[in-house]
Amino acid sequence: MSVSENVIVQTEKFGANNYHPLPIVISEAEGVWVKDPEGNQYMDMLSAYSAVNQGHRHPKIIQALKDQADKVTLTSRAFHNDQLGPWYEKICQLTAKEMALPMNTGAEAVETAVKAARRWAYDVKGVAEGQAEIIACEGNFHGRTMTAVSLSSEAEYKRGFGPMLPGINLIPYGDIQSLEAAITPNTAAFLIEPIQGEAGIIIPPAGFMKAAYDLCKQHNVLFIADEIQAGLCRTGKMFACEWEGFEPDMYILGKALGGGVFPISCVVANEEILGVFNPGSHGSTFGGNPMACAVSIASLEVLEEEELAKKSLELGNYFTEALKKIEHPSIKEVRGRGLFIGVELTEAARPYCEKLKELGLLCKETHETVIRFAPPLIITQEDLDWAIQKIEKVFVN
Ligand code: PLP
Repeated sequence: MSVSENVIVQTEKFGANNYHPLPIVISEAEGVWVKDPEGNQYMDMLSAYSAVNQGHRHPKIIQALKDQADKVTLTSRAFHNDQLGPWYEKICQLTAKEMALPMNTGAEAVETAVKAARRWAYDVKGVAEGQAEIIACEGNFHGRTMTAVSLSSEAEYKRGFGPMLPGINLIPYGDIQSLEAAITPNTAAFLIEPIQGEAGIIIPPAGFMKAAYDLCKQHNVLFIADEIQAGLCRTGKMFACEWEGFEPDMYILGKALGGGVFPISCVVANEEILGVFNPGSHGSTFGGNPMACAVSIASLEVLEEEELAKKSLELGNYFTEALKKIEHPSIKEVRGRGLFIGVELTEAARPYCEKLKELGLLCKETHETVIRFAPPLIITQEDLDWAIQKIEKVFVN
């Protein structure tokens, strides 16, 4: 049995069956390339669902990790640590917001956003205790905690996990009339992914996001952008909301915030909103730990220094155009923003992902019929030409 086969058997024997990975084991990675224990090389076109926007093991980020590991790794929030202050300042400058609250995973940051919005509704907006409502969108993906699955419209994400969190209303993604109809005096927030990633790279109709933001302002409702997957340069802008020229009341960030090296997530907003938290109301043992903060500062600097938003935009256009030229009866639509691209098929996408894996290109189907292409943003045009050749081959044969 090969090392890879052995690892897969172990994983299937001892691991809870909550994922369906492609049958490949990764034991090394650098930039856009990964290797299995047998030495086969593959191009990573998923980037750990956009957590590795800066590329695998970016030298600057790894250096920050190593330097910090030699100093202090965890203090808890019982004490201050010397990395947290600089990180707060950096993330607030980047988002042009007044305050941030760090957590670890995306789902925890979504929890934080919902708690902030509810408390804001009671303490600032004046909603009666226990009545706050959150509006979210059908097809959303905000994670796997109870709040996140309560927000979901997917029956399978919720089955057997009830009772769900109350006070949630769903509207069709991109439907401004439905949003208007769903807003009540008790609405605390509208929570939305600027592009729905897990749903299959779904882009809302042009103008919807800005119109939704304006509607929220009109009704004193917080506009919360879950930019965990679409943010931090993935769509060709630092934040996907920039595509419609507005700043949400709150950003939820994660994934590439830690450069694929260390988990860190956060919410960022002005004091009027995040000021509702007081000591004892929220937190996490690992939230804001010095390792995460040091790695995150380096990760954000890489995004800026290497102009990864610009790169994502330019190479994203190049890649999308090339994909659009592939003629095949099963290709229904190619859509995307920057290097966040979905190829929707009229049939199951997984066999295509499996064939691409055989040719050395790793990607993953999402929502059965969509192939998501989201390579690390440090990818070169040459690398993309290589990938395009492989993709053409899979569709021609
Ligand atoms: N929100 C969005 C938009 C996501 O894409 C994800 C993960 O894919 C999450 C939240 C959850 O993040 P995590 O898996 O880190 O909990």
